[in-house]
Amino acid sequence: MTIDWKKEAENRREELLEDLKSMLRIKSVRDESKKTDDAPLGPGPKAGLDQFLSIANRDGFKTTNIDGMAGEISFGQGDETLGILAHVDVMPAGKGWNTDPFEPVIKDGKIYARGASDDKGPSMAAYYGLKIIKDLNLPVSKKVAFILGTDEESSWRGMDYYFKNMPEPDFGFSPDAFFPIINGEKGNVTFDAKFNGTNDGNYSLIKFDSGLRENMVPRDAEAWIESKNGNYDEMIKKFDEFVAENPIVGESDIQDGKLYIHVIGKAAHAQEPKRGINAGTYMCLFLNQFDFGAGAKNFISFAAEKLHLDSRLNNFDMAYTDEVMGDLTMNAGIFSFDENNGGSITLNFRYPQGTDPEYIANGLNSTKEQYDAKFVQHEGGMVPHYVPEDDPLVKTLLNVYRDQTGEDAHGQVVGGGTYGRLMKRGVAFGAMFPGVPDTMHQANEFVPVDDLIKAAAIYAQGIYELIK
Ligand code: ZN
Ligand code: ZN
Repeated sequence: MTIDWKKEAENRREELLEDLKSMLRIKSVRDESKKTDDAPLGPGPKAGLDQFLSIANRDGFKTTNIDGMAGEISFGQGDETLGILAHVDVMPAGKGWNTDPFEPVIKDGKIYARGASDDKGPSMAAYYGLKIIKDLNLPVSKKVAFILGTDEESSWRGMDYYFKNMPEPDFGFSPDAFFPIINGEKGNVTFDAKFNGTNDGNYSLIKFDSGLRENMVPRDAEAWIESKNGNYDEMIKKFDEFVAENPIVGESDIQDGKLYIHVIGKAAHAQEPKRGINAGTYMCLFLNQFDFGAGAKNFISFAAEKLHLDSRLNNFDMAYTDEVMGDLTMNAGIFSFDENNGGSITLNFRYPQGTDPEYIANGLNSTKEQYDAKFVQHEGGMVPHYVPEDDPLVKTLLNVYRDQTGEDAHGQVVGGGTYGRLMKRGVAFGAMFPGVPDTMHQANEFVPVDDLIKAAAIYAQGIYELIK
């Protein structure tokens, strides 16, 4: 039997779009200030979950609402279960939209709305993949649990609740990332480097602030400096030279007898710190040529000598590359210093198999005497996750992708967390195609409509090959 998957998806184009629009109109942002017993994450995620389950009910699927935390659409029979892990919650809309983020608009073949590409569009495409198999009455030998999370954008509580209360699928994928496939994710751990807030030198560091989140390269750094003799001419002159020589923007200003310095670099995601320009380490590199003392000196020189331009940890003799998972990386995400709270630099690590938080702690601690520093590991974090490319799950999905797109395709390892890691044999599969701008979490989020239809055809064949 040959099935024209693309034609089957195309035949359902209007229906898929209508169902998707009904999801996009729901402002399914987590809001626990409005939580109730049957809406533990607030009314938005509940409405999103209810709507998706009612679509599946209409189509004749068995559905289960797991205490408002998660939902399951069930299909097929057999001993093994394929899990498909999607989510109905969305990020807050934020500023900068040209249209109402919760009223989908189709323009130039793209559908614009919060959730269009993360994750309502892809989950609807994957759902239609499953629906095609059901509509065609294809014989299957395994079960499918299409699982809807309600808290992916915050702390995964919906999906965690599902995995605590329901049987774990034997293998599966999450349509919440990119094609062709993400079959590995690095581990993730964060440490704070702590310094005391003392000063002793010709210059005093009164305050230092840089960065907002551990998982971002800081774009801005601000410092307030006091000179013993009240003169800042030399520092200002050197700062102008420093700005001219480096890929940063800077300004300085004397305020209340103190020198204020502002450095602007470039933000980037901590998965690849090299894509950013770390304003915090540039600021420290500049300050490190002056006579600071005590805790301030340790804070500045640690950042300048150890962190600056060293996302691969060569300065710590800790560089590590795993053949399949890639490099151990470090991002210095948040810097702060003042007399009362001392100095702190938050370091976020993405680590491949072959390393672990202990390896990182040992490397950091080798510098603690030199800089009179203390390193404190944050709670939580994630271990590395990898499904080999010759696993039947990865092989099958890649073959389907190659088959339908005509493109060469291989596995990919990323530094960030997807639902794929919740299953031992779990991956992320679609739905963003290579070359399409990534607008997830941004204003004017969109997905090309044709891509959704293409994805639905790939999901239909992919699911069928896995459960036939
Ligand atoms: Zn997502
Ligand atoms: Zn997201």
